[in-house]
This record gives sequence, structure tokens and C-alpha cells, in this order.
Amino acid sequence: MARTITLLFACAVSCATTAFAQPAGAFDASKLVKLGDEVKYGSYVVRKIGEGAYQINDPGDQSTRGGGWGVDMYLVRGTGKALLIDLGNNYIAGYEKDAVKPRPNAAEELRAVVNRLIGRLPLEIAVTHMHPDHDGMAGAFAGGTVPMWAGEGEDLNALKTQHNLDPSIFRTFKPGSRSFDLGGGHVVETLPVRGHSNGGTVYLLKRDSLVFSGDALGSGFGQAFGTVERLRQVAEDSQKLVDYIKANYAPYERYVLRVYTGHSWQNAYGGFLHPNKASIDVGYLDWRFIQDVSACANGILQAKWLVEGSGIKYMGNMLYTDAWGSAAGRAIMVSGIGTIILPLDLAYQAAGLPVPPELQRK
Ligand SMILES: [Zn+2]
Repeated sequence: MARTITLLFACAVSCATTAFAQPAGAFDASKLVKLGDEVKYGSYVVRKIGEGAYQINDPGDQSTRGGGWGVDMYLVRGTGKALLIDLGNNYIAGYEKDAVKPRPNAAEELRAVVNRLIGRLPLEIAVTHMHPDHDGMAGAFAGGTVPMWAGEGEDLNALKTQHNLDPSIFRTFKPGSRSFDLGGGHVVETLPVRGHSNGGTVYLLKRDSLVFSGDALGSGFGQAFGTVERLRQVAEDSQKLVDYIKANYAPYERYVLRVYTGHSWQNAYGGFLHPNKASIDVGYLDWRFIQDVSACANGILQAKWLVEGSGIKYMGNMLYTDAWGSAAGRAIMVSGIGTIILPLDLAYQAAGLPVPPELQRK
């Protein structure tokens, strides 16, 4: 399969029109030696985050919207196979709703990075969810032999509506009952976390202490949930994720977990640490983040923000978070470094309480 990608890449280079004749030169991975080493290449910053594990960061462009502000993909390698988790923004055709514009050689560029990092290993691709900033570069691998996977419940038709791609290029799997064995003990397990999407998948790589959570838990400054149903889903599934890790990881295996989210630039805004304050210096999140998001979602269902000292706090609107379109004018609930954004009347409904008159919508 790696050979097919190489062939595709070779064709893409030689068949390119003169206007897009030159990809940005060869991607040089030789500087990726220690954890944290990074190489900039075209639209991406590629960072080493483990032995055979890489973050392919798109630093984004603030003239865009949504995921256009920056998103992350991750590549993990075993001894027999490699897995690319997520496909970032669509720089091949652009994505109008987020004001993301096409960029020259976008498909070639991503394939150059991936091919260089995987060498001769066959590749599979799995997404955390089918939102346009996470499945955007699917076109770079369409028509080849690379299997592409999404969690059952995700809307595969989004490929058509978002990127004008044939939905049949993806297959679905049931999160929780499928893992990706990459060889050499690098087994990527999957667990469902719905709420942000219907088939959202969290990927766990125990051997390397890595978790890839996409947008399922947010990326630090909080995920917005617009209905009681979606809040219930994230509460239930994040609790199962916490229970699973507690049952299957020894304490020190949990404590060293590094949690890589869909939008790492948001990591710096964590719970009580972020309201209207300067951001903090972090590059990934941790086991505490998973527990805090779950505690926050479940705490809202138990009306804990109304109980002084419960650990769940209603922050009201916050200057920075309100810069985010979907968060505008919504309540922000925090528990430690876990944050959930939702309209306050929904919090009352979710907790089974009457909505106070001043919050009732006209
Ligand atoms: Zn996203």
C-alpha cells in the first residue's frame, strides 16, 4: 500500500500543471530526533511526540473561521503499519464556510510528509469525527488503496456536502470494538465519545502513553454542547472513558498519559486558569483533563454549579471564549481544567430543574 502512495505521489508531482509544478521541496524528517523537535513544511509544523509518533500541526490562519484557526493531525507508526489520525483542513479545494482557501500543492505536501514519516509501512487513516476541519484532506488519499475509517454514527455524507467527495471512500467501524494493531505492541484502541458528533472516537495508544481525543472533550477552553441530549451523551461516554482508563491502566500509566486534542492551540486555556487571564504554557493535556471534563459534564446534570463548594463553577460569559462564534453568550461551566460551554437555560433543563424566568427564551 505504501508503494501505491509513492506512485500516487510521483504521479501527482509529474502530472501537476505548471502553475502548481513545484511542491515545497522534499520534507526533511532528519531533524525529528528528540521529543518536541519540529520541522516546518508548507502548511504544517511536524513535531515528534513519541517514538514513531508525530503531531502534524496546521497553525491555521486567523482570517478564517472555526477549524481554519488551526488543527492537528497525528501519525503513529508500529513495526508493521502506520495510522494517520485525522485529516485536517481542506487546502485542496478550500472550505468556504470556514473561509479556508485552497493552497497550491496541498495534497502533494501532505502526502510528502506522511510518506516520509512512514517509509515503506502500509498506511491506514482513521478520523476522530467527520467535521470539515478533521476530514478535510481526504481527497489527498482518495482513489488509492489506503483504508479510511470513521466511527459508526458519523455522517459519511458530510464528505459530499463538505468536500464534494464520494462518501464510499470511507468505511465505518464501531468505536470500542475495533483496535488498530500497528505491530510491535503499538495497538491503538478506540472508544466512543459522542456529543460533539454522533460517532466521535477517542484513540488510545497505551504503549506510548498517548491519547488522541479530537474535539470530543474540547481542546482546553471548552467544547460547546447545544442540546440536553448532546450534553447527556458526552457525560455518559466521557465517564465510560474515565472508567475504562481506571480499569485498564495502572496508576502511573494513567498519570503519564499525554492527551493530544484536535486543536492544540486551545490547550493553553484551561478551566479556572483561563477566564480572562493570560494563557498558560502547555503543549498537550493529561489524565486530569479527561477526568475534569467528565466531572464537569456530569456535574451539570446534577445541578452542581448551584452548590457552593461542589467543584463545578458557573463562570458566565468570558471575554476570550466569547470570541469563538459557537460560544457567544453562553454559560461556561468549569471543573478544574475541564470546561463545558452551553446556554444556561439548557443547564437547568439538563439538571431537571425549572428554567428561571429571566433565562426563559422569548
Ligand atoms: Zn475541530
